[in-house]
Amino acid sequence: MPYQGDECAMLPSVAVEGPVRPAVRTGNIRYAVRDIAVLAEEVRRSGKPMLYLNIGDPNAHDFAPPEAVVEAVCRALRDNRNGYAPSSGIPEALEALRADACARGMRGVQHAFITNGSSEAIELALSALVNRGENVLTPTPGYPLYTALLAKLEAENRPYFLDEERDWAPCVEDMAEKIDTRTRAIVLINPNNPTGASYTRSALERIVELAVRHNLVLLSDEIYDQLVLDGEPHVPTAALRDDAKVVTFNGLSKAYCCPGFRLGWGLVSGPAAEVGDYCEAIRKMERARLCANHAEQYAIAPALATPAAYGQEVRAKLARRRDITCARLNAIPGISCVRPGGAFYAFPRLNLDVSDDEFVAELIRQTGVVLVPGSGFGQRPGTRHLRVVFLPPEEQLHLAFDHMAGLAARWQ
Ligand code: PLP
Repeated sequence: MPYQGDECAMLPSVAVEGPVRPAVRTGNIRYAVRDIAVLAEEVRRSGKPMLYLNIGDPNAHDFAPPEAVVEAVCRALRDNRNGYAPSSGIPEALEALRADACARGMRGVQHAFITNGSSEAIELALSALVNRGENVLTPTPGYPLYTALLAKLEAENRPYFLDEERDWAPCVEDMAEKIDTRTRAIVLINPNNPTGASYTRSALERIVELAVRHNLVLLSDEIYDQLVLDGEPHVPTAALRDDAKVVTFNGLSKAYCCPGFRLGWGLVSGPAAEVGDYCEAIRKMERARLCANHAEQYAIAPALATPAAYGQEVRAKLARRRDITCARLNAIPGISCVRPGGAFYAFPRLNLDVSDDEFVAELIRQTGVVLVPGSGFGQRPGTRHLRVVFLPPEEQLHLAFDHMAGLAARWQ
């Protein structure tokens, strides 16, 4: 007799014939950044020249990794370091990560683990923490991987707002109101995707205080930490207080222009006695998936040792493109844009009589310019936005904004 407990009774009975029925949990999974590519691909096949301002991939434009980073991987491949790696990562990369974290004030790192992109670190950290029915506070707007993973884990995504009127700073009061007995963690993305906002030390201190008071884990996504374009320098969340329980995510995809390596990491910090069991749960999951890409891990130590001039050049190029983006968007009647202080995203507001989904679809069909609608990242009810990636060279940005201005005129 098959198990007939309560949980099974809630599920529809398994069909004996017909198409394969996908798991219910996949119903809520969305990833607008790639979803929009389907329409863009249709338009591209029709022969229209395209301008892609939709994917945060520096290598799709005129950015390249530091030479030493590529060379380290080539050397590892030539030396046949192609076997499985240790599950948490190779010792020299883990040592480099710990030393770098310590130099940036993160003194309480209890576990470092290397993963296939920071995406996998986020998945392991969430899977080892959250049970079905518990909830996690995520930024709105925010990076959609978090909501997709929470759907997969059958946990509740509980959005808190970022305030457009305050340069997209996190609304700590809203966060505090949304915490209940089933809340396990708060996600922070700093600098943020999709707003490009970089958070102040005082905002971070308030959030850390809140997390400590409610015994919550802070999941601090710092993948754009090297891309703060102006204002206060980046502050690692885990450097703020020794008693905070923080998992910091980072990787080679953005600051070192190696998204194709699929190499990232997580650093768990906090009092050893309080995060020990959690670290062990993460280790179990690491072992179950064997290891991250092996040869690419040899890039981590040279990447962290990259001369400062590399980052300065990247930031200077991005700052010029950010300035063009803000000036051109703010000059379009019906569009307003908060100046992003970091990363390579702007999140302009649409004050026209058209939905963001329709505006983006029309823009792609009519002009070949590809953006992502704000709906893909979450936004305050009643507001509409567009996510613009300002990685492309200046002349391409100008052309894209000419097209946007032309289309916007239709609804002015
Ligand atoms: N976190 C944020 C905020 C991102 O924007 C991205 C990618 O765009 C990722 C994580 C995933 O990066 P990766 O898996 O390439 O390290």
